[in-house]
Amino acid sequence: MTNFRAFVTEKIGDKEYTQSIATKTINDLPEGDVLVKVAYSSLNYKDALSALGKPGVTKNYPHTPGIDASGVVVSSKDDNFKEGDEVIVTSYDLGMNTWGGYSEYIQVPAGWVVPMPKGLTVKTAMEVGTAGLTAAMSIYKLTNQVKPEDGDILVTGATGGVGSYAVAMLSKMGYSVVAVSGKEEKIPYLKGIGASNVVSRDQFLEGNQRPLLKPLYAGAIDTVGGDYLATAIKATLPLGVVTCCGNAASFDLPLNVFPFILRGVSLIGIDSQNFPYEERVKVWNNIATSWLPETGDITEEVTLDGLLEKINQIIRGGISGRVLVKVG
Ligand code: NDP
Repeated sequence: MTNFRAFVTEKIGDKEYTQSIATKTINDLPEGDVLVKVAYSSLNYKDALSALGKPGVTKNYPHTPGIDASGVVVSSKDDNFKEGDEVIVTSYDLGMNTWGGYSEYIQVPAGWVVPMPKGLTVKTAMEVGTAGLTAAMSIYKLTNQVKPEDGDILVTGATGGVGSYAVAMLSKMGYSVVAVSGKEEKIPYLKGIGASNVVSRDQFLEGNQRPLLKPLYAGAIDTVGGDYLATAIKATLPLGVVTCCGNAASFDLPLNVFPFILRGVSLIGIDSQNFPYEERVKVWNNIATSWLPETGDITEEVTLDGLLEKINQIIRGGISGRVLVKVG
């Protein structure tokens, strides 16, 4: 019987949670069609909530978090996959209430598994991970309607995982990107990954109480919600598109109908977890063939042993870019 390592969060008493690296066997894994030997995972905000026992992601403990995984198929009950295939597993229930990617092995339904697209590796796919995939899904929806010649695209929460990939991918695709960030010291980083201009959070929100603002942006990718999303929508040019995927600032949306009925602005919600499988494969292929930016500046790497420190850091908003987790 193969022994392997997995990050486990346990609930102690009513409210306390502890984290450790435990030794597990394949028999401990949940039932599933495809057994995958995990090579890499990544760290997303949701992983930190799950790993620390914060509400909203995981109900039952002990639990192994990790909403992202890449690796090699060990065995499969589904004919679409065979031993040795490189695969990506993200979204659905992985790492939420199903044993996740912070583990040397996972076992999952075949419908959660995406074949590794040509052009990506187990490592680069996890540099992208759910954060980069969410940025790419937002870009996929936005660029259906907004072209580079239409004007600037705004990205909020720009130094975050989703924001960094949105800035870098849009810039690679020829869009001019205005980044909103609360980290003044990260202006060189944001310009380095492709932002043509960086606006501070305060500057962006200044005078934002008016029902409509001067239209400045052809589109926006919002990752933080609240006043930032409302301001982005109010400052979008006629027929522009705004996508919404996150609530790092707030889940609220203090807005009126004018941007929609007087400017024809569209607001598109992005739910990476339930994004349709065919479109998910298409987006991964877009990333692999032409959208993938240079990630040297965006990504830092840790092992399972160094993960807890990074989990505590991302909860405090202290991470820029992406954390790649080397598992196997
Ligand atoms: P990160 O924690 O990496 O980044 C979030 C960024 O938001 C921060 O780096 C910061 O950027 C900004 N921010 C943080 N707190 C505030 C605040 N109080 N006010 C304004 N800005 C703030 O998270 P991710 O990029 O991984 O995820 C972003 C959001 O998207 C999260 O809410 C996450 O849950 C959500 N998400 C949703 C998905 C979906 O399918 N809908 C999938 C993946 C993520 P800066 O300092 O540059 O301003």
